[in-house]
Parts: sequence; C-alpha cells; structure tokens
Amino acid sequence: MEPPVLAQTYAAALPELSVPWPADAPPDPELVWLNEELARELGYDPELLRSPEGIALLTGRGVETTAQAYAGHQFGQPNPQLGDGRAVLLGDLVDTRGRRRDLHLKGSGPTPFARSGDGRAPLGPMLREAVVGEFLHAAGVPTTRALAVLSTGERIAPRQGVTPEPGAILVRVAASHLRVGTFEYAAWNLGPDAVRGLVDHAIERHHPEATSPLDLLEAVMNAQAELLAQWMLLGFVHGVMNTDNMTISGEGIDYGPCAFLDVHRRGAVFSSIDRGGRYAYGSQPGIGLWNLSRFAETLLPVLDEEDPNAAVEQATAVLEGYVTRYREAFGRGLAVKLGLPAPAGDELGDELFALLEEQQVDHTRFFRALAEGEAAALFADPAPFRAWHERPRGSGGGDIAPDANPVVIPRNVHLDSALRAAHLGDLEPVLALLEAVSSPFEHPAEHAHLEGPGEGGEDFLTFCGT
Ligand code: AMP
Ligand code: MG
Ligand code: MG
Repeated sequence: MEPPVLAQTYAAALPELSVPWPADAPPDPELVWLNEELARELGYDPELLRSPEGIALLTGRGVETTAQAYAGHQFGQPNPQLGDGRAVLLGDLVDTRGRRRDLHLKGSGPTPFARSGDGRAPLGPMLREAVVGEFLHAAGVPTTRALAVLSTGERIAPRQGVTPEPGAILVRVAASHLRVGTFEYAAWNLGPDAVRGLVDHAIERHHPEATSPLDLLEAVMNAQAELLAQWMLLGFVHGVMNTDNMTISGEGIDYGPCAFLDVHRRGAVFSSIDRGGRYAYGSQPGIGLWNLSRFAETLLPVLDEEDPNAAVEQATAVLEGYVTRYREAFGRGLAVKLGLPAPAGDELGDELFALLEEQQVDHTRFFRALAEGEAAALFADPAPFRAWHERPRGSGGGDIAPDANPVVIPRNVHLDSALRAAHLGDLEPVLALLEAVSSPFEHPAEHAHLEGPGEGGEDFLTFCGT
C-alpha cells in the first residue's frame, strides 16, 4: 500500500502559530514499540515503519517539521510563552477512515520554545504515555495515542540525582494539537485576527457543526465535560491539567505524572510536583470548568466586537451549562457501569463514591466485582453497601455489559516496575503490560497484572519526565 501523504495543514493555515523547525538526528535510533493496529489505521504498512526508511520517517528525517507555539496557565499561573519545547509536528494525514490526524514527535530535540530544557525525553515517561494512551483508547475514552516509541541511542538524566536513562522519541497521534493554550497564545501575543483564524480552523477541523465562536465554546465544553466524566468513572488522575494540556478536540493529552486510583479517594494526588493538590482526582471536573473559562476569555474579543459586556454575558451563559452537561455524562456513564437501564441520578453516584472512600475500596475492583455479583465482599462492613444496592432503582448487577468495567488497568505499581525494568534494558514487562491494557475487559494471561496496589500503594508518586 502507498504510505499516506503528510501535510502541514496547520502551518499553512496559521503561519503565525508555529515555526519551521527540524527534528535532531538521533545517533542510533531503534524501534522499542510499534503500534501495528494504529499504523494500519493511519494507512502505514507496519513492515515499512520497521524498515530503515520507516525509522527515518519516524525520527523526522527528510520531513519539513514545525514546532507549535502555545501559552498556558500552569498550576493557575499564566505563562505567555510555552510551545513545543522538545517536540515537532511531523505533519498531518487523512487516515483510512477519512479523519485528519497529527503525527507529533516528542523528545526530538530542543526548539526555539525550549527555554532552559534540553529538548530530550527519557524512555520511561514516553513508554508511560504509550501505555496510558493505549489503555484509555481500549477503554473507549477519547485520547491521543502512541504510534511508536523509539530509543535514540543517547543517555539522558531526567532530573538531578537520577541515573541517566535512555533517550526516547514518542510518535504521538492526535486529532490535532490545538489546545486551550494555543488560543491563549493567540489572544495574548497576536490579537483578535489570530484568534478568529484559530476559531475557524478549530471549527473546520473538530466541530464542523459550530457556526460561531460561541458555538465553538459550547462544543469544546461539551467534549471536555464528556472526557472529564469518563476520567472520573475510570478513576483516572491526569495530574497536570494545565490549560496547555487541554485539547480543543476533547482528546486527553500529555500523560506525564498521571495515575489511576487504587482505593477510591477524592483527594488522591500522585504527581510529585502537585504539592497543593490542585489536580487531585476529585478536583478534576472543577478544573475542567476553570480551564474552559480561560478558553472563553480568549474568545471574548471575537464574541461581540462592539460590546464587551455582552460578550461576557454570552460566554457566561454557555459556561453555566457545564455542570449539567458533566452530570449528565457522568450519570449516563455510571448507568452503563452499574447495568442500569436509564441514566443514574446525581445522588446514586455521590453516595456510592462516598461509600467506596469511607471503606477504602479499590475503585476498579469494585465495579468489576459488582458485575460478577461479589462486590459486598470488598467492604469491611457490607451493610451500607447492601442498603445502597437495594435501593429501588434497579441498580442491577445482573445485566452489566462485559465491556462496561475493565479488569486490567495500568496500575501504578505495575507500570512503575515495568518502567524500571525498561530503564535497565528489560523491555519484556512493559511490552506485556501494553498487551494486557489493550484488552482491558479480558482476564489477562499474566495474572500479576491484576494484583496490587500492595504495601505503600497509597503513597505512590509519579515524576514528570523533565
Ligand atoms: P508539560 O508539563 O509536559 O505539559 O510541558 C510544559 C512545557 O515545558 C512545554 O512547553 C514543553 O514543551 C516544555 N518542556 C518540557 N520538558 C522539556 C524539555 N526537556 N526540554 C524542553 N522543553 C520542555
Ligand atoms: Mg504539555
Ligand atoms: Mg508533558
């Protein structure tokens, strides 16, 4: 088959928002993992991608790549100049299903946006991003995914005091890399014409049903409310929901210090850099709204050019719909997990999550055990659970679909130990984990993937790959 044609649609449409920039040539690139299924979906022959020609393509040789500009609020603080500091856009293509998708190389060397960073990415965090993306995708959650992870042949130190690790490149596939932070960059550094151009581009690419900036705000809000609801139902903690890590497409992106709940805990924070707990598990839906409010602010000058107050009123009226939209998505998703015929009301979920937290029940195991009729055994005192379960709203247990509740998740302890093995040169555990999380509803061959968290699991911390 003919490989797909790579374009630079974004740079062509919005030249002010990226710079042409080449990827560094890695000294000794090797394919660590290739996502064959995704390769085929994109229109690539996996064998071609494994060949020297393919490796050349996946490291950006002979391709006119670009680094994208963006700004962002990081932990609540505005930063007008972020951008692809260690990544370039290889290009975009139309996949075998007719969808335009970006191919991005992360860890491809410093760009003009690198600030003090080295532009490199260590192997562990790039494999982590691949595992998390594959799991979320397999679980039906909108996400960016890894096409490949390559080692570069360099050794780099992710932070001081840590043994140097192999350098790596993640080839990331995304509906696009437009972020809330891209709009912030345009609004803060360029002005209303650039925002207008970005609005048109985002509408055409992601939300073609929208016909105005206000419609775009609503479409992005709805997509993000859906995404947040799914993360909460799955027990996913993104860890660094800065506005530059929130997409316009509604796909999850940038799985640095993310982790999955073991015991259900609203306050769960796994990121070593999130000392204030801003991005705790239970805070995520609220942060979603906070980020969308920052997005709305970038649109104000183009919402109503004559009357700034009217623009604020219009945006506020849209954002007031977020909570309802989120609750609706959550109730719909919870009903699927519980095997209910109709969307669950707010109280049902709130009470259940309070129960899980009070009795320190594992989030993933609870839902799976419920499907198997054995959930009561997970509670030290099963009486309150039974009372909840017997409420007259048909909470089911009998007709839960086999693909409603995963049995395998990339548990923090397993992912961490697999990444440690990879660091030492043994790729087998992380490849096995990639395989297991790609079929999350099936009991895995490798039983070890079901165990954990084990002693100290609650104190688990993830570190950013910087
Ligand atoms: P993140 O926390 O991954 O969302 O990244 C925030 C910003 O830091 C982005 O602009 C990244 O491109 C940049 N960045 C992260 N790590 C590096 C690095 N090692 N070298 C250069 N830039 C980096
Ligand atoms: Mg980021
Ligand atoms: Mg990152």
